Amino acid sequence: MSGLRINISKLSEGVHSRSLEIEPADLGLDERFTEAVKVLATLEKSTKQLYLTVELSTGGTFMCDRCLDECRRDVRSKYSMVYMFGSESTLKPENQEIAFIHPDTSFIEIDEDVRQYAVLAVPQKILCREDCKGLCPQCGINRNSAICSHGEKDEIDPRWQGLQKFLKN
Ligand SMILES: [Zn+2]
Ligand SMILES: [Zn+2]
Repeated sequence: MSGLRINISKLSEGVHSRSLEIEPADLGLDERFTEAVKVLATLEKSTKQLYLTVELSTGGTFMCDRCLDECRRDVRSKYSMVYMFGSESTLKPENQEIAFIHPDTSFIEIDEDVRQYAVLAVPQKILCREDCKGLCPQCGINRNSAICSHGEKDEIDPRWQGLQKFLKN
């Protein structure tokens, strides 16, 4: 079965690390993610808990905010999670970084956490390049690859459009 599962049965106390890899589609990531999701998991086990740190990296093709062209971006993130051995009722449940597992648990599944952190790590603002010229607001042409008659300098501030119409008449 596919998925990101970490075998924690017979895990001795101390620090362990695991490398995992999964295809983005198998993790439920949308089609913007095109590269395998690599996960480096560090597990620190003690008698009471398992402290998990996950470093994840993948990549995808995203849309430039200005010209709507596709551009490739790395997606990286890191998160930590504490798996307490015991039942939930004894501790405050509002902390999302704490999960409760039975001491005999053999596997922890991290698919959903990794998926969420990958989605959150997608940059808020994406530009295909620093100086992307974007689309012409009048004809919609991509100014990075083509030139139209409207010219960058003549970009009309919408506040002036009314006045311009007035002057032409
Ligand atoms: Zn662009
Ligand atoms: Zn134009």
